[in-house]
Amino acid sequence: MKYEKIAFFRFFGRLNDFFRNSERIKTHRFTGFQTVKDRIEALGVPHVEVSLITLNGKPVGFDHMVEDGELFFVYPEFQNIEIPEDWLVTPRYIGEPRFVLDIHLGKLARLLRMLGFEAVFGEESDEKLCWMAVKKKAILLSRDTGLLKRKELVFGYYVRNTDPKEQLVEVVERYDLKKWMKPFTRCIECGVELEEVPKEAVKNRVPPKVYGFFNEFARCPVCGRIYWKGSHYDHMVEFIKSNINKG
Ligand SMILES: [Zn+2]
Repeated sequence: MKYEKIAFFRFFGRLNDFFRNSERIKTHRFTGFQTVKDRIEALGVPHVEVSLITLNGKPVGFDHMVEDGELFFVYPEFQNIEIPEDWLVTPRYIGEPRFVLDIHLGKLARLLRMLGFEAVFGEESDEKLCWMAVKKKAILLSRDTGLLKRKELVFGYYVRNTDPKEQLVEVVERYDLKKWMKPFTRCIECGVELEEVPKEAVKNRVPPKVYGFFNEFARCPVCGRIYWKGSHYDHMVEFIKSNINKG
């Protein structure tokens, strides 16, 4: 029989969302030679959620080989704490966030586009989803922890909520999206940026009442859909005000 080893893990902040029990220190038994990344994922936490791992107060990398009796502290990314970049196991995301979403998050993709974010959606294959996220330096959003454990992934996030609007608020808070928001600048269907069109150009493309009442129109260069600031727009502005720009 192989010699069994024991390691201990303490998870911080939102990483505890992956556990049902609330014991502060998780005991983990394993055999053979294992990296700390593999052991964290064996406990159920995808590596993309982990920002910093420490052992005896010192940062270690994902490839650290776990020895019998070691105790690790495992942290998510904290927005307001500056940690030296070379301590991090997942680099900090720089610039305006871009997203790739798995096939179950279509409503969230549309809401992110509504706020002006690039949100690629529609791909079913796990392999292609990961490839697109890596190639575009985008964040893969999913509720499938298995998908988020794929080794090629750098940026990813497990969406906790199941309601699309709650998911939107969650992702806005996680990635501090408020400062990047440009609501109503993208096509909800295609995700591409809209272009302004003169009123006369849409005369026969929108209902006469709409044409009479509104003066500003935008068009999707891909699908041709015309956008104006009607009742749907008002509802969404209200939603943004009360849920995202609160306080
Ligand atoms: Zn479109």
